Amino acid sequence: QPISLEHLLKPVYERFSMTCKQKEIVLTLSIEEDLPIVVVDRDKLDQVLDNVISNAVKYTPEAGSIKIKAEQHGEKHVQVSIEDTGLGIPKQDLGRLFERFYRVDKARSRTLGGTGLGLSIAQEIIHSHGGDIWIDSEYTKGTTVFFTLPVRSEASGMD
Ligand code: ATP
Ligand code: MG
Repeated sequence: QPISLEHLLKPVYERFSMTCKQKEIVLTLSIEEDLPIVVVDRDKLDQVLDNVISNAVKYTPEAGSIKIKAEQHGEKHVQVSIEDTGLGIPKQDLGRLFERFYRVDKARSRTLGGTGLGLSIAQEIIHSHGGDIWIDSEYTKGTTVFFTLPVRSEASGMD
């Protein structure tokens, strides 16, 4: 469905606000003005956002912060980013995060749970929407997950 970034991100933001408050993590949402509409399968996008943001919450200790942002990315895409001040990911693992069942560091994985499927599913969903997803991280400092979505084209607006 055609949807604005506000409509896509606001509910997820509100859903995670509670959890973050309990963990004393500051969660913020900022959406650039006048962003174009995107056309997405909303349930699928929610699944991506749920996983990426719950990763951020899971791997960010108390008193950290998580920033959700949406901005224009070139003429034809919108970029969403989720930036945290958590544990970070070592350089040598960055290339493998989208592999199924891949998880960084056994000790961390044992205590924090999960199957290692979240990001591979997220990648599949974003690719099927014609977007891209990538991760930037500095070990011990924090992580940012970026993804892009194509904006609604003239043609798709006329159905
Ligand atoms: P699942 O999502 O299936 O419950 P998971 O969260 O372990 O399990 P992914 O979401 O695919 O799996 O993430 C893969 C690995 O990437 C994680 O195990 C974790 O080590 C690392 N990771 C993902 N997001 C972050 C983040 N924001 N900060 C630090 N490490 C992260
Ligand atoms: Mg996950």
